[in-house]
Amino acid sequence: MKDHTTGGQGASDSATRTDCSEALLRVYEYLDGELGPDECAKIQAHLDECGPCLKEYDLDTTLKSLIKRSCECEQAPEALRLTIMSRISMTVIQVDRG
Ligand SMILES: [Zn+2]
Repeated sequence: MKDHTTGGQGASDSATRTDCSEALLRVYEYLDGELGPDECAKIQAHLDECGPCLKEYDLDTTLKSLIKRSCECEQAPEALRLTIMSRISMTVIQVDRG
């Protein structure tokens, strides 16, 4: 396990703490409303205290509203969805290395 030095606060209780990579993976489900209340709260809590993740979350929210605006149909085209998913995966890799 690597040291998490981004925040200023102590990160001792890693058991209850949501991982950045986990949070970013779930942000997509979170945005889709696929998470239960417990997990929603976990992601929300992580976004509250983790700047980089919040930034990505904002990006995803913007992306999603853009899709909704540019696409009349309710579902995003498969290609666009894949693009977003790969973008998120790339972000996760960056976070893991950072
Ligand atoms: Zn984070």
